[in-house]
Amino acid sequence: MTRYENLMSALHSLLAINGVIYFQPEELLELGEHHRRGEVRNELPPDHVLPSLAKVALIADTLRAHCGFALTVISAYRTPNYNTAVGGAPNSLHMKGRALDLAPVASGRASDLAKKAKALWNSQGQRWGLGVYPTFVHVDTGPGRTW
Ligand SMILES: [Zn+2]
Repeated sequence: MTRYENLMSALHSLLAINGVIYFQPEELLELGEHHRRGEVRNELPPDHVLPSLAKVALIADTLRAHCGFALTVISAYRTPNYNTAVGGAPNSLHMKGRALDLAPVASGRASDLAKKAKALWNSQGQRWGLGVYPTFVHVDTGPGRTW
């Protein structure tokens, strides 16, 4: 098996264990648009961050269920170099596989996503990290905080 296939297989099991139903392993291996465009290289996540990716995927999954419309992962694991290049925070949890950026699949849903994410974050006791941006939201398994 290739490294990608190994990661897919490991994530498949971890997502099932965590009860994730909407997000698929390949979505958690998203390398980001700047990588796809060939502007700056990202890398697949190291094995040790996979359990963390599956954990943050459960937050994403709960948000997806709460929204009632499809979300797509636009940024997942980042190498430190990639994180710097895309303007990530210096201690970004993306570098630990503990953060996901999520955008609505349908354009025009961004404000709905922001509202739903804030409501979910409040209803869950503000236990995780939520960043709201004009076109996407960031969720992470860090301490409860929002921006
Ligand atoms: Zn983020």
